[in-house]
Amino acid sequence: MGIETKTGRVIYFIDVTNRDGVQTSRLGLAKLQKTMINLYLDKIGIFQSEFGFPVTSHEKNYLNANMELVKKGIINTIRLSGWMRALTSDVYESFDNIPNLKHINISISTSDQMIIGKFGGKKTREDILVQTLEAIDAAKARGAETIGVNAEDASRTDEDFLIEFTKAIKKQGAARLRYCDTIGYDDPDTAYKRLNRLAKEVKLPLEIHFHNDVGLAVGNSVMGAKGAIDGGVDAYINTTVNGMGERAGNADFASCLLAILKTSGFKNKYKINKKLKLDKIWQIAKYAAYAFGVPIAINQPAVGGNAFAHESGIHADGALKDKKNYELYAYEALGRGEPEEIETGSQITLGEYSGIKGFRNVYEKLEMEFKNEKEARQILELVRYANIHTQKPLMDNELRFIYKHPDIAAKIMTIKP
Ligand SMILES: [Zn+2]
Repeated sequence: MGIETKTGRVIYFIDVTNRDGVQTSRLGLAKLQKTMINLYLDKIGIFQSEFGFPVTSHEKNYLNANMELVKKGIINTIRLSGWMRALTSDVYESFDNIPNLKHINISISTSDQMIIGKFGGKKTREDILVQTLEAIDAAKARGAETIGVNAEDASRTDEDFLIEFTKAIKKQGAARLRYCDTIGYDDPDTAYKRLNRLAKEVKLPLEIHFHNDVGLAVGNSVMGAKGAIDGGVDAYINTTVNGMGERAGNADFASCLLAILKTSGFKNKYKINKKLKLDKIWQIAKYAAYAFGVPIAINQPAVGGNAFAHESGIHADGALKDKKNYELYAYEALGRGEPEEIETGSQITLGEYSGIKGFRNVYEKLEMEFKNEKEARQILELVRYANIHTQKPLMDNELRFIYKHPDIAAKIMTIKP
């Protein structure tokens, strides 16, 4: 489930694609697509998916339906967690909307820049702390099993106040502090030092949340995690698929994982737990690229078109003699290398205006049969609705999901303003 270190401390991954990733300007995911991401993440064996916003009414059916997938064992190992502001009213509303919610993160700004800049002088550091502790109490009262507290703009927060804040939330029952480098202010050196000091002083597991405004999200994440581990606590790196996220994005999952497993300072000191399945990385990256409508960059680490391509004379010659001359890690381990079939002739796709004949043709190719005409028409109706949400031809995995779990699919797609 995570990466074990020689000290016995573990680096876990918390995916925030379905929360931070979907906050990306101009981009988003349909609820069905968010569900598919959760299913992929579950297969990869990531510790947790921050799956959305329990306070937001259009998320309600999707979130409850995904909780049902957990109950049914379809989502198997991953924890689903909700994000909300550190306000008692948000906490109550979240648990009213999603009664089975067990894991949450509550968020509050902790830097003077934001306390002054956002609250306009109406709140002090003390107010921020009191409000957070009250929200923790509310969450405990409503049965939350894990409460993470997000210090927004932690990298610009006065270090002594951040330590005081973290000690207080620990005493109140929080399981982790999320150190948010909200605007990408840290560098790998400050990330290591600040998280290391926080870990040593507070002894509370730390979430490592970095943004990529100057291109350092991955470097900061792995060095921040190292700081936490060296300071004696577990680290929970927040990542997104393909680094999707606000502005220049979040830390990319595959890159962070490979940085820890393959680079000289980390390699051999950190051991991957067998439950973490690297060979699904290719699939989830491709799916997320399709779902967001953002192609994978040709030079993207691990999954980019050129990540294992060689052309110039010396490189090609060297790679042909021994791949290890010019490749740091093997593509096979990431699930790459399988030939992919792309239809270049006649093709039937499914969408919101599809009819029964085309629908049956596509499902026959998937080798999925229907008990009778009624069932086929019910699934067709769901497929049409799914396309209203996604606005692009439905993928095989989406069609399979709708076929296997029609009731849950219907719930996920039900949105009423
Ligand atoms: Zn963020």
